[in-house]
Amino acid sequence: MEQKKIILTGDRPTGKLHIGHYVGSLRRRVELQNSGLYDKIFIFEADGQALTDNIDDPEKVRQNVIEVALDYLACGIDPAKSTIFIQSQIPELCELTFYFMDLVTVSRLQRNPTVKTEIQMRNFETSIPVGFFTYPISQAADITAFKATTVPVGEDQEPMLEQAREIVRRFNYIYGDTLVEPEILLPDNAACLRLPGTDGKAKMSKSLGNCIYLSDSADEVEKKIRSMYTDPDHLKVSDPGKVEGNTVFTYLDAFSRPEHFCRYLPDYANLDELKAHYRRGGLGDVKVKKFLSAVMQEELEPIRTRRKEFEQDIPAVYDMLKKGCEVAREAAAETLSEVRRAMKINYFDDEELIAGQAERFRTK
Ligand code: ATP
Ligand code: MG
Repeated sequence: MEQKKIILTGDRPTGKLHIGHYVGSLRRRVELQNSGLYDKIFIFEADGQALTDNIDDPEKVRQNVIEVALDYLACGIDPAKSTIFIQSQIPELCELTFYFMDLVTVSRLQRNPTVKTEIQMRNFETSIPVGFFTYPISQAADITAFKATTVPVGEDQEPMLEQAREIVRRFNYIYGDTLVEPEILLPDNAACLRLPGTDGKAKMSKSLGNCIYLSDSADEVEKKIRSMYTDPDHLKVSDPGKVEGNTVFTYLDAFSRPEHFCRYLPDYANLDELKAHYRRGGLGDVKVKKFLSAVMQEELEPIRTRRKEFEQDIPAVYDMLKKGCEVAREAAAETLSEVRRAMKINYFDDEELIAGQAERFRTK
């Protein structure tokens, strides 16, 4: 039987989604969804994972569940083609996490580079919540419960995927072929792997407050672009400028296409020409930022408009989520029953076991 092609990916409802999510994963998800090449697509809000480092602020997570759902719909995730669900509503995921915990060592988790940086970023010092520390295990459960083959995510998720693959291999080795090894699908454009923040910091992240949100108004986007980090040594227009590490150019790498130049900056044929001029000197930041703004507004405007439409019927959005949870739960339950059988903890639905034990005690 040919293996089904299944996508699973998600986001933490810790804030509204930003353009880093968009170029790192969301834009790709919509393309994959509409390609018709996948048998099933699961997109979920990792509220349980969001609580691991927001345990004292449940209201934040609750509020953002609806915000993220609106962002999904606004970007073109279509509930008729993709199942959108909420992690906490699928108890099977906790169960699978519990079994997976025995397949991973503490030292292996400690080596996970993403967890290391995230722990530093959050100033946990020595009081790291166990749930946060072990979230790569729960993420492996999220992926494997749906037998996902393809996981479209940003670069920071690479260690998580590797961890999930190891767990699958170990599980299947011990208990027999049951789970599917997932493949990571990274953006093919280098600028999108890990989009920097507007402050030039390594990653745009909800937790760092350096984001352009998909739901920001045109004015807010404009303002954020105007105050963006560029090349600190490019003081006068005539100075030669650096393109590498210059966030405005990274965003152009992520968003601009040749047709944008015809529309908004016809003096240049493409981004390479613009970069060459900036490097030579004689091109001011303001002009480049104006161009970036035009390019981004073109992409963000339809998303904003669609979001406004979905905002008109919030109960319908909750209803869509509820239905998604039901579909997802069914899929996860199926995998869990296979897992329990493989792990020999399916006592009551295993007639052979009962008959065999009866026989053993009869002949004792
Ligand atoms: P938090 O700070 O709460 O962890 P986050 O902004 O890192 O939030 P996540 O929900 O952890 O967002 O990530 C969701 C998805 O978006 C993941 O696939 C991740 O790789 C991708 N992603 C997040 N930030 C970026 C970014 N700056 N560039 C590219 N992809 C990103
Ligand atoms: Mg994150």
